[in-house]
Amino acid sequence: MRDVARAVVPVACPGCGREDVRCCDACAAPWWEPVWRAEPDAARLDVHGRAALPVWVVATLVGSPHGMVSAWKDGGRRDLDGFFADASRRAGRQVAPHLAALGRTVRVVPAPARAASTRRRGVDLPLLLARAVSDGLEQGGVPARVHTALAIGAGEQRGGSAIDRWRGMRGAIRVTGSLTPGDPVLLIDDVVTTGATLAACSAALEERGSPVVGAVALAAVGRVAGEAARGLR
Ligand SMILES: [Zn+2]
Repeated sequence: MRDVARAVVPVACPGCGREDVRCCDACAAPWWEPVWRAEPDAARLDVHGRAALPVWVVATLVGSPHGMVSAWKDGGRRDLDGFFADASRRAGRQVAPHLAALGRTVRVVPAPARAASTRRRGVDLPLLLARAVSDGLEQGGVPARVHTALAIGAGEQRGGSAIDRWRGMRGAIRVTGSLTPGDPVLLIDDVVTTGATLAACSAALEERGSPVVGAVALAAVGRVAGEAARGLR
């Protein structure tokens, strides 16, 4: 019976492929590490010729974390929603002390997902993460509210090569929600590669008078992986 059940609903750790476990302890471990700052490795984040936006991330997008994020984003592993929400909640708690001095409600704004991606997945992943980060900020004593204030302009897409995406994203992000000008914004995305998406989101928000104070993502390419990606381009 067990073999029959496995054939019908195969379960394997998305990080290492180990069978009969949703996520093994070894592959879960990196998601419990303290957040780290990814902006020095995000080549496209140096917008406005000033200091790059602080970007806090949980994991480095190589090895098992890469497998887990891919399975979650594109492999239909909706059973990992809660796992990544928990990781994002912890990240929010860790980032809270860095935002406490603002003394204002932080507007937690998810990067816009393509409508087709959200339909295919059945869930808006950046929004799911934003809600969790917002919860974490509140647990850390920082008042926070989620606002879905960004949309992707018609005809533009996420995906393709990093440089295509960067060119396409600049000007493609629209501010749709009502944010009070001057309220600090924390951007949320699932993964950070070049930082192009975050830079485009940040530029769109700041044009409308919303200061972006940082970003939180699940994972980013690390220094070594980032150098390799830039070298290959
Ligand atoms: Zn594993």
